[in-house]
Amino acid sequence: HEINNPLAYVTASLELMLSRLPDLTNNTGWSTIEQVQWLHHQLERACQGAARVRVIVRDLKAFSRANDETVGDVDLSRALTNSIAMVASQISLCARLVRDYEGLPLVRANEARLGQVFVNLLVNAVQAIPAGNAARNEIRVSGYTNPAGQAVIEISDTGSGITAENLQLIFEPFFTTKPVGMGTGLGLSLCHGIVTSFGGQITVESGPGTGTVFRVTLPASHHETLTVVPTPLAESKGRLLVIDDEQDFAEVLQESLAPFHDVDITTEARQALAWIAAGKRFDVILCDMRMPEMTGLDFYACLAVTNPEQATRVVLMSGGFTRQANEAPLALPNPILEKPFNVEQVRAIIRERQGHGVRPPDVVVS
Ligand code: ADP
Repeated sequence: HEINNPLAYVTASLELMLSRLPDLTNNTGWSTIEQVQWLHHQLERACQGAARVRVIVRDLKAFSRANDETVGDVDLSRALTNSIAMVASQISLCARLVRDYEGLPLVRANEARLGQVFVNLLVNAVQAIPAGNAARNEIRVSGYTNPAGQAVIEISDTGSGITAENLQLIFEPFFTTKPVGMGTGLGLSLCHGIVTSFGGQITVESGPGTGTVFRVTLPASHHETLTVVPTPLAESKGRLLVIDDEQDFAEVLQESLAPFHDVDITTEARQALAWIAAGKRFDVILCDMRMPEMTGLDFYACLAVTNPEQATRVVLMSGGFTRQANEAPLALPNPILEKPFNVEQVRAIIRERQGHGVRPPDVVVS
């Protein structure tokens, strides 16, 4: 549902533009301001819809990695924003949402697991507030750093509250006051397990009629902040090779980058190997991981043997949801680029690569 809605208007806008195109070109030409404005509006709407789908897919990916227990520096603002996005439509039916959680320190945790905690707490808050009086109820997500330097996140609601008797029981597995089908009683015990596994605590303050505050405290990571401001690098015309079995994708990338760089494309990794064997040299080689004939990893493994210098320029692209991306058996020379990405990211990679030194010249085989 969350994906189909935005997708529906992306498709509708694109179809509308296609169907009106003959009218626009036949009689009146492209000249009138109204026509261009209309096109602009349709394109903007399609882009917005696609951006929404992109965010949802990114969130789903974070959740699908719940079994991957890697612990790293987690940006709590991002984790909270993603979690809220997943429950936003339910919240809007019962309460105003207030957010106040910028500037939190990084914590050592697993982002998908923390996402589970926040979504659980938010869904509980929603379920504690009767639907239909959104203006008079509030769900507040706030965060601050306590005097001990720990990150504290509070999720509070103006819902029914919890009796003193039930407060003793809510973290017990299978304790629920919700009707069958609504609650399993596992949510809070799961939250407790996850938070304590990262060295944190989860506590609650509540009373009937006074609403509820859940407080999650997590130790800060030793790395203070995520923001690394990269020094802007100069961009000179580079040469890019795109290998992707989706011809349309390769062509769009080629067209978008054409003003800045020379871009060769092919749908087959073997063709790329042949070009390199024949003497062509590239600054960056973007190669899709999943292709029917030769996979991105196979391509990289071959190139590492036949031309180790060009192999260092390979950036594999992944559509996500692939175990290969996490379990690459080879040490890859560059981080994997997750699709969808935008042209600016590719330009940054080329600039970064150019900062490492010049591309060897093409080899002319006589
Ligand atoms: P479930 O939501 O499946 O019942 P949980 O473990 O998440 O399981 O919650 C256990 C119980 O704690 C709930 O049934 C409810 O009685 C109480 N509870 C949790 N969060 C809140 C809240 N924000 N407001 C009121 N009661 C809550």
